[in-house]
Amino acid sequence: MSKMKLVDLVRQHEALEPALGRVIERVIADASFIQGPAVGEFEAAFADYLGVPHVVGCGSGTDALQIAFMALGIGDGDEVITTPFTFVATVEAMVLLGARPVFVDIDARTFNLRADQIEARITPRTRAIVPVHLYGQPADMDEILAIAERHGLPVVEDTAQATGATFGGRQAGTLGTIGCFSFFPAKNLGCIGDGGALAVRDAGLARACRMIANHGSERRYHHERVGINSRLDSIQAAVLSVKLPHLDSFNRGRQRVAAAYEHAFAELHARGLANPAVASGRTHVYQQYTLRYARRDALAEHLGRAGVPSSVHYPTPLHRQPAFAAHADSAVGLTEAESAADEVLSLPIFPEMTDAEVDTVTAAVRSFFA
Ligand SMILES: *Cc1c(COP(=O)(O)O)cnc(C)c1O
Repeated sequence: MSKMKLVDLVRQHEALEPALGRVIERVIADASFIQGPAVGEFEAAFADYLGVPHVVGCGSGTDALQIAFMALGIGDGDEVITTPFTFVATVEAMVLLGARPVFVDIDARTFNLRADQIEARITPRTRAIVPVHLYGQPADMDEILAIAERHGLPVVEDTAQATGATFGGRQAGTLGTIGCFSFFPAKNLGCIGDGGALAVRDAGLARACRMIANHGSERRYHHERVGINSRLDSIQAAVLSVKLPHLDSFNRGRQRVAAAYEHAFAELHARGLANPAVASGRTHVYQQYTLRYARRDALAEHLGRAGVPSSVHYPTPLHRQPAFAAHADSAVGLTEAESAADEVLSLPIFPEMTDAEVDTVTAAVRSFFA
């Protein structure tokens, strides 16, 4: 058997040939690389899938966040409430605009930000709440939206890890003011380079996002506002249109692997190994399958010796990162984020994982406890 990977994209792409090659060749034949018809086609299909009136493609999930913050007018001295336990992009995008992250702690079992701690951190400078649907599980959106409404704040959902997940039957990324999606290759819906999108309900806001992503312009050489160059390119859009009809089945494949892990590790709970907990009323699409265990590093080492790769998402909460040290004054009481960083471990998971591979992983985990 070849070396096991955390994520094997080759299998997914082989299964989608020759369709992938065909659509890429068409973009090349038309030389419609930037803002070609493939982009609008994907945006319409994705809007339809999500059930939102507007989808705006852009260059990456990171850019989607930046564009969302720019469209909401977030800038110098503004405060944005978010989680410290996330990929760096969530916070990077707001800091680049001069805004300050105000961190709230996470729930120890779901790793998502604790909605019940948000309100205490709201000040007159607060401009937005940014939940991250970490590892593929939507945050507590009922509570977050209720708080946002009470205080008249927009909610930007970082949905980079949760494309296709649902909350109360609705798609993650469509519940707040703007949903930001990433099509980084290893995400639930991945392209073959960088790509991202914004899901927007409000037409004016959608128009602002579209303009910002294209140099603040909707008419050539007329620039209404300061924007950036962040367009979803046609090849990525064409690839995404091929993959989108398979997204739910990809996510079911991830859920199948997660269920097998869950079953295999049930008796290890008493030994201190915690499975990912799924809160009620939502679906988890397992961008990561992340265990929690006090001796995480020893377990990772053991798995490595057994040929099973694993990864830590994330070893350092953002308030402890050198880049954001200047914002650490707002970092009080983030103890759950800090201990999660010491204890989480993600196992291999991807839709095409075979039962034999799942067995190899579960046997390696169980042998650690034997
Ligand atoms: C991947 C990711 C991003 C950034 O997406 P890119 O497309 O890689 O720029 C943002 N937030 C989270 C939580 C992510 O996992």
